[in-house]
Amino acid sequence: MSLIQCKDCGSQISDSAAACPKCGAPVPVTVGPDQIQCPFCMTPLHKDASVCTGCNAMRGYATNANGVMTSKGPVIAFGIVLPIIVALVVLPFYWPASLVIAAFAAFGTWRVKNGPYWYKSKVPT
Ligand SMILES: [Zn+2]
Ligand SMILES: [Zn+2]
Repeated sequence: MSLIQCKDCGSQISDSAAACPKCGAPVPVTVGPDQIQCPFCMTPLHKDASVCTGCNAMRGYATNANGVMTSKGPVIAFGIVLPIIVALVVLPFYWPASLVIAAFAAFGTWRVKNGPYWYKSKVPT
């Protein structure tokens, strides 16, 4: 056990505490090489986990209309490939629209490059 500094209020707290006794901020835990930490509740999870066991947060690339997490595939298909095709089709007719659609594809590319992201669950815990 050692003392660490709370990232929120700066007070010295034990690293075995789950939360700062002063301000209630969750204490970061030391995770193993196969582990990641939920950014919302600090629960250590397996690095491939897509759902947090602590707060039901979800990890993925995007959420669909129903709030369900999607994997990389649909993001590549609808966020990159489809916009590029549409941009090329529209290009001879109205190029400003192509620019906007190309920007959309660029965002999709950036999104996929950045890897999965944690989304706060709408499901109450
Ligand atoms: Zn604190
Ligand atoms: Zn969590």
